[in-house]
Amino acid sequence: MTVLSVEQIHTLMGLVVTTEPDQITCDDCFGQIGEFAEYTLAKHDPSESMRVIRRHLEQCPCCKAEYRGLLDALYELQA
Ligand SMILES: [Zn+2]
Repeated sequence: MTVLSVEQIHTLMGLVVTTEPDQITCDDCFGQIGEFAEYTLAKHDPSESMRVIRRHLEQCPCCKAEYRGLLDALYELQA
């Protein structure tokens, strides 16, 4: 049986935490989804943080539905 040193355990835990640096929670996404929708509407270049939002939307049907609803509302406001 192999016994890990404290340093090795810390290294492993660091790997677990940093495996998906682009991952955000739905709460994070909801906090910025309005800004993201406005960027999209203005055909703005998404910043680094917006790219994270975009990736989350691709993976999360719940947030994507919220985002589409927001876009629709913004389009109506513009019309
Ligand atoms: Zn989500």
